[in-house]
Amino acid sequence: MPDKAIKVENVSKKYGDIHAVDRLSFEVPSSTCFALLGPNGAGKTTMMKMIYGKAERDSVSSGKINVFGFDPAKDELSIKYLSGVVPQDNNLDEELNVEENLRVYARFYDITGRKAQDRIKFLLDFLELSERKKAAIRELSGGMKRRLVIARALINEPRLLILDEPTTGLDPQVRHVIWEKLRHLKQTGTTLLLTTHYMEEASQLCDSVLIMNKGSMVIEGHPSDLLKNNIERYVIEISNGKMPDGVRSSIDGTGIRIDETMEMTRLFSDDLDKLNLIADMLDRKEHHMRQSNLEDIFLKTTGRKLNEQQ
Ligand code: ATP
Repeated sequence: MPDKAIKVENVSKKYGDIHAVDRLSFEVPSSTCFALLGPNGAGKTTMMKMIYGKAERDSVSSGKINVFGFDPAKDELSIKYLSGVVPQDNNLDEELNVEENLRVYARFYDITGRKAQDRIKFLLDFLELSERKKAAIRELSGGMKRRLVIARALINEPRLLILDEPTTGLDPQVRHVIWEKLRHLKQTGTTLLLTTHYMEEASQLCDSVLIMNKGSMVIEGHPSDLLKNNIERYVIEISNGKMPDGVRSSIDGTGIRIDETMEMTRLFSDDLDKLNLIADMLDRKEHHMRQSNLEDIFLKTTGRKLNEQQ
């Protein structure tokens, strides 16, 4: 078994004049979780679609994609059999109930009879949907629909699970339940490739994240290594960009880094004591101190926010 689940080398995809993906390279070891992060339009979905053969890269000869030994441009069917896909939209069949949605997918993979029955029962239990197995799709909550789409993607016991924004729009409690299931899948050997806008999702689940902007890589690494090596540990956020002049002069010479935008001023430092001295000079209601996160790295590197429209 190759220890690399996915290898992407110098892959590009243009739509007309738009460079959706621009010379991207990365590797995903088996049984790990890898995330593509970036703002709307960064190229995350396009990259994932090229991996499971739903979009073709620009040049099959210059860029290379290898998924468990297969090239999606040539072996789409082999990749279909060894992967499961959770697309951005739920695309469940509204005419069928919960269980039937799974049965139809099982048939796509020639899983029938007792084997299908056992697999469906296992997945309904695993994703805590057994009590709703006869429910119509319209009767399900957003979180239940998402869990059903994940169950459906797991019907063929895939070695690779590809998830496009698995928890967007879900409440925090449902998000945590889904994270727990994904963690379990990783522990039992499934490789996870996901896109997300949520920094916490990437930090909680992923062994490696690749932050993208306008089709290209900004930075890649383990979430905690990225934080350790690329950004100060703490930040004070001052809303409305308000920073009294007296405070500004107190910052001079302290090494505190100031990042100012229209709506927010951020003060970064590894030294909590220095930041606390500044915080004492600020209006309590207008500032907030926290640990830095991946979003701060993106802002520092690109000058943009992750949830900004392209
Ligand atoms: P989001 O977070 O909003 O899902 P994304 O990072 O997944 O964004 P993509 O959907 O991959 O970004 O889009 C990358 C760029 O390619 C965007 O400018 C988008 O408009 C463009 N694009 C994507 N699919 C197509 C298509 N089928 N035809 C034309 N342009 C496309």
